[in-house]
Amino acid sequence: MRNLRFDIITIFPGMFESPFNESILNRARQQGLLDIRLHNLRDYSLNKHKKVDDYPFGGGVGLVMNVEPISRAIDEVKKEVPKARTILMSPSGKPFDQKKAWELSREENIILVCGRYEGVDERVRLHCVDEEISIGDYVMSGGEIPAMAVVETVSRLIPGVLGDENSVVEESFSEPLLEYPQYTRPRDFNGYKVPEVLISGNHKKIQEWQKQQALKKTAEVRPDLLKKLEHWEQEKAPLKELNIG
Ligand code: SAH
Repeated sequence: MRNLRFDIITIFPGMFESPFNESILNRARQQGLLDIRLHNLRDYSLNKHKKVDDYPFGGGVGLVMNVEPISRAIDEVKKEVPKARTILMSPSGKPFDQKKAWELSREENIILVCGRYEGVDERVRLHCVDEEISIGDYVMSGGEIPAMAVVETVSRLIPGVLGDENSVVEESFSEPLLEYPQYTRPRDFNGYKVPEVLISGNHKKIQEWQKQQALKKTAEVRPDLLKKLEHWEQEKAPLKELNIG
């Protein structure tokens, strides 16, 4: 049984309690597939007020997180997990996507460093971590929620965390196509009906419909993903039929 351990360095460890104690993440932890350790960055400050930030050199608004407490915290954690892949959460990092999530799911130990304020001293990026990743092109107030997003996305890829392995494969971005639309009861909601084909019982037709819908949705919403499609030649035919290729 494979197990992934996350060590998270943050000034707000309390933020993580509820998300990690519910649902799939909680079950994965109970089953020993996932191990999450929280480290309060302030414990690594040598300042008597437990300060972990200071004014930026060169001026500018806001405060910047000091390199020393972060470096000390990482060193301490690495005494237990020396080979841990160390990642800084940052809006200027490389984008986090499903491919990156698969890559991280194969690690044994990951350290996530959460920034706050105006960000962290550049020397953290240069000398203390292996890489920085961003969860999207927008700026949040801290790295805690981005770190939760990474933990949740990566954890569900660890074998055994989701009951049915198929549900991981069929979802959006595994192809990389967006997922086809899904329906459940009732068949008629205020006159809005479930597409006939889904009730037809014809599995081949259903699969074709799902594939077409996935392509259509991707072409409409994320044309950039279609460009990435590896099996482009094979996919061209249904696209042509839909007049969106
Ligand atoms: N001044 C910085 C923003 C700092 S936001 C800038 O313009 O780039 C404060 C912290 O929130 C960051 O250090 C980072 O840890 C976290 N954060 C904010 N947005 C994020 C995102 N999209 N992805 C990952 N981390 C993010």
